Amino acid sequence: GRPGCECNSCFGGPDCSLRTPNCTADADSGNPLFLEPYWRRHAAASAVVFSGWHRMSYTTTGGFQSVELERQIRRLHGAVGNAVADDKHLVFASGSLQLINALVHALSPDATAASPPSRVVAAAPYYPAYRQQTSMFDGREYRWAGTTALWANSSRANSTDGTFIEFVTSPNNPDALLREPVLRGSAAAIVDHAYYWPHFTHIPAPADEDIMMFTVSKPSGHAGSRFGWALIRDDEVAKRALEYLRDSNMGASRDTQLRMLGIFKFMLANLRGKDDIFAFGHDVMRSRWLRLSAAVSRTRRITLQKIAPQYCTYFGRVREPSPAYAWVKCEMEEDEDCYEALLKANIITRSGVQYEASSRYTRISLLKSDDDFDVLMERLEDLVDADKYDD
Ligand code: PMP
Repeated sequence: GRPGCECNSCFGGPDCSLRTPNCTADADSGNPLFLEPYWRRHAAASAVVFSGWHRMSYTTTGGFQSVELERQIRRLHGAVGNAVADDKHLVFASGSLQLINALVHALSPDATAASPPSRVVAAAPYYPAYRQQTSMFDGREYRWAGTTALWANSSRANSTDGTFIEFVTSPNNPDALLREPVLRGSAAAIVDHAYYWPHFTHIPAPADEDIMMFTVSKPSGHAGSRFGWALIRDDEVAKRALEYLRDSNMGASRDTQLRMLGIFKFMLANLRGKDDIFAFGHDVMRSRWLRLSAAVSRTRRITLQKIAPQYCTYFGRVREPSPAYAWVKCEMEEDEDCYEALLKANIITRSGVQYEASSRYTRISLLKSDDDFDVLMERLEDLVDADKYDD
């Protein structure tokens, strides 16, 4: 059981240990509860407690970003080897969702400028929030301009209709592939490295793009704290992003920054030891991928994306695949809508259509709690077995 948990429709009781029979497995959201057992194991050492008088001010020493937290984040990137942080500005936000508009704003021409609005694009399949957030504020500064396929290799891309801002997610959500920008030349790239941590991918080298996005939600699992950060090389872009954060919500919550300090310090102190969070996370995600792959290999109805084992500089060895999501393809002619096909088997997924991919694809989240994953596997085994009797 999980005392103090928030139950979902498959589980009830004070510690979510009572199973609801025949419930629908929900594999839709990327809620990163796979790390909850790690933090339960270290409940006392990772606790953050502070008094009523603490951090009441709008500002902390030096502005609204904790200087000590900045230092710990730089240390974490250095120790994990997943990003070059020392030569870049750090900008905190309430989750990396808030960074989407902060960075697009920072890269776009001033609303008073004569230049046309910049065009924000991403290559399909892409994380839908880039489109949702950008089109919410379409206007003088920028507008959503669809997928890169509309513009790559096209003469229209060279026109004077406004420069491009491309969102690049690496590893990608939904398919876990490492990615690079599609548009070249004058296009600016915002590289979202939410999943560039050793739980989910091998780390070939430290990332060193001009503008990078990170979130605490995926490396530590503290999605509810709402904390993300950007690493920005250019002084002016960093200044404009900070202005956006100041004007929209006066920066990330000071309470959250205190909690993050405790969480990052704990992670750092245990790196490469027996309580390494990345060794723990990789083990969980790898064994989930193995169980899923084994079940799927017994049916011809669905297939998964292919991921090869790769050398990881963090672990210093070749590591097995352990993606955050399965990008499922329905192979049977009649399963044109893969989301619907899985829903009939009592599994809720996220349709490929949301990622501007074909409805033949759908995404399964592998990040949720152990209980959720067990229910998902039960429904999948049923699907695979039903398929066997059909033959
Ligand atoms: N970027 C990507 C690629 C994501 O998958 C997510 C969360 N699913 C986010 C950003 C947002 O994360 P948060 O707002 O929790 O920091």
